[in-house]
Amino acid sequence: MDIRTLLRDATAGHRLTEPEAAVLMKVQDRQIFDILAAADTVREARAGPEITFVRNQNIHITNICKNLCGFCGFGRRAGDEGAYCDDHETISRKVALACSRNVTEICLLSGVHPEFTMETYEEILALVRELAPGIHIHAFSPDEVMHAADQGRISTRAVLERMKAAGLSSLQGTAAEILVDSVRSVICPRKLSTGEWIRIITEAHRQKIPTTATIMYGTCESVEDRVRHLALLREIQDDTGGFTELVPLSYIHQNTPLYRQGIAGPGASGREDLLLIAVSRLFLDNFRNIQVSWGKLGLKLSQLALLSGANDFAGTLFSDDVSGDAGAAEAGFLDPVLMEGIARDIGRPLRQRKTDYSLV
Ligand code: SF4
Repeated sequence: MDIRTLLRDATAGHRLTEPEAAVLMKVQDRQIFDILAAADTVREARAGPEITFVRNQNIHITNICKNLCGFCGFGRRAGDEGAYCDDHETISRKVALACSRNVTEICLLSGVHPEFTMETYEEILALVRELAPGIHIHAFSPDEVMHAADQGRISTRAVLERMKAAGLSSLQGTAAEILVDSVRSVICPRKLSTGEWIRIITEAHRQKIPTTATIMYGTCESVEDRVRHLALLREIQDDTGGFTELVPLSYIHQNTPLYRQGIAGPGASGREDLLLIAVSRLFLDNFRNIQVSWGKLGLKLSQLALLSGANDFAGTLFSDDVSGDAGAAEAGFLDPVLMEGIARDIGRPLRQRKTDYSLV
């Protein structure tokens, strides 16, 4: 397969097949730069020159989790050292802090606490909604939706309806990891299956609850698995149009069981990180937005990712215990002033956006 011809066709509108995308993701020589440049051309045409970011704050409510996935350094058993579960007073304090920082989005990011029920999720949403009126609440994963449904013996559709009524603005497209069950059985065996993830995400979109789409790569999946995952996202987007963006999440290995047990190596290389973003841009012809997770890539590689097909700098976060506990050095707060300097250095304007990508 000739790479130049493939890139010329892709930039002219040819929809890449899975084998074609896999060929591009496997390139190891200087043709990488042709792929990154082609993705940057498509980014310019589809999303324009702006680099966007959202002023948001992560709020971690609990790190107690029923799943204890092998790639995660954040989840704990109840009673483990460092395990916590915030009461309403602590959550209220965190929400007040977020409001004082003028965020437009609050992101509730937690473990899947085995004792949380539908009512727990509703109470948390109602509390945040009351304390932060008008602020977008981006919360919970399909796995938490599934958990609430199992606990309450109700359908996942009913869970989504009740979450929306209690204040949920958009659902997180997390818990996707790699949407290939043979990989999931190794890296997150207690999480919902590929089919269940697709069903719940589709149900959310049908109820006009937008979601992000994520891919967590770099453990023990193959290039073909990564591409299969992207193909499933593209199919869902064709069907519902409900994804706001792709969020590539590069595996942070240091403090995780998979790495300690020798099942996974030290994560993706810089080449793989940039090619994942570039090939996603070329392959996902129905996605407008591709994000860089600066907490996982670091600021210097993030800047190059913004020249390789990505158009969004994610959020200010203010705290990211999920990446930090796994061993990421730069997770935490990113000042928009710093983002602006990084954008200016590659000749691009930085713009603040809301969760739905409308500009502030
Ligand atoms: S990745 Fe999420 S579900 Fe898995 S152990 Fe960590 S917090 Fe729990």
